Amino acid sequence: YVIAQNLAKSFGSNQVFSQINFSIEKGEFITLLGPSGCGKSTLLRCIAGLERPDDGDLFVNGANITSKPAQQRGVGMVFQSYALFPNMTVENNIAFGLKMQGMDEKKRKQEVAAVIELVELQGKENQYPQALSGGQRQRVALARALVVRPQILLLDEPLSALDARIRKHLRQQIRQIQRELGVTTLFVTHDQDEAMSMSDRIFLMDKGQIVQSDTAENIYTRPASEFVARFMGHYN
Ligand code: ATP
Ligand code: MG
Repeated sequence: YVIAQNLAKSFGSNQVFSQINFSIEKGEFITLLGPSGCGKSTLLRCIAGLERPDDGDLFVNGANITSKPAQQRGVGMVFQSYALFPNMTVENNIAFGLKMQGMDEKKRKQEVAAVIELVELQGKENQYPQALSGGQRQRVALARALVVRPQILLLDEPLSALDARIRKHLRQQIRQIQRELGVTTLFVTHDQDEAMSMSDRIFLMDKGQIVQSDTAENIYTRPASEFVARFMGHYN
């Protein structure tokens, strides 16, 4: 459903990755796990159309999207820090993408109300982001990504700024919503625990390569290399 072929990306002389290949099935929940700087965010941004790969191709549902602009990719993205509009209410933050699509107000209200219920933010419609907790803000960001019914949901460490208890609750909520909608998802984290508990498969990255793509159980019990074993905590 989502296929990457030989994706390459450099910034100047810094080659982030050169040979990224993967294939993701419709509805799968994939976690990109790996050390800081290995290229997780860059890969997500290439899929979102926020960065242009230097080489290689990306296919979604059979169509080559490599040179499609971000707005036409059917991708929803949530970032680590809340990229909400501070001067817009929760409702208007979420409705923004639909407004850009030219959807009429009545339909927009219905769609927004449905995702507000999905992320359990009823009653917060008219609040501004600064009046919300970190977890609530990330739920607004999630709602904003989902309201356009994306073909792919990209989550770049959406939980890492939150405290432990809220993280645990939100990770379950994200997974439940993802299942309910059947939306193909790529989730970036460097939290192993999150990766182990949420993923259909984990893509473990090191220095710009996917060194193992497998179920959590296989990655843990059958590490493909010493790096994987070390990263998953078999030694030290
Ligand atoms: P982290 O876990 O810390 O978020 P990451 O795996 O997401 O790390 P990236 O942000 O993808 O890593 O960065 C990969 C490499 O690309 C790093 O060496 C980084 O310095 C470089 N890089 C990322 N974005 C840019 C940019 N816009 N311009 C120049 N270099 C960049
Ligand atoms: Mg990153």
